Amino acid sequence: IDFEHCGFPEILNDNLKKSGYEVPTPIQMQMIPVGLLGRDILASADTGSGKTVAFLLPVIIRALFESKTPSALILTPTRELAIQIERQAKELMSGLPRMKTVLLVGGLPLPPQLYRLKQHVKADTMLKMGFQQQVLNILENIPTDCQTILVSATIPSSIEQLANRLLHSPVRIIT
Ligand code: AMP
Repeated sequence: IDFEHCGFPEILNDNLKKSGYEVPTPIQMQMIPVGLLGRDILASADTGSGKTVAFLLPVIIRALFESKTPSALILTPTRELAIQIERQAKELMSGLPRMKTVLLVGGLPLPPQLYRLKQHVKADTMLKMGFQQQVLNILENIPTDCQTILVSATIPSSIEQLANRLLHSPVRIIT
């Protein structure tokens, strides 16, 4: 199946094509429908599997129907990954109504970042070992009825335990 035949908004189809994405990767085939249903997801995916688009697409499509902002929050373990994900999100969101991103990272001046945040934002979630307490603190301060998608290269038992605490009946996607 091609993205073209998934029934996505036309602008999104155009953006996918412009990025060179025509056929979903295996992780995308599994994550996108489940993500669109609003279910929590625990996924393991290797680098290069297309995992970023796999969570960005449902997040963007759901945000189109969401009036509350921010409609999504993406947490990543490194600044480089955050920059890369924001770039990919901007590509996919180009031309869609009311869609904005804000990048919040350490090591850069805070006021412009906070200014962007106040202008309204969007995103999704990623968790990685070493940031457990920070992630818990953040997740304790967001609404409990949020959808949570956790993607990690591997799922050691420590992440598994954390996921059991944070996710509600997650669909497991192991590629
Ligand atoms: P990731 O696993 O998210 O780091 O993605 C790896 C690379 O695959 C990125 O450079 C994406 O641009 C690319 N990519 C993601 N989805 C697709 C797709 N459906 N077809 C071709 N390339 C893709």
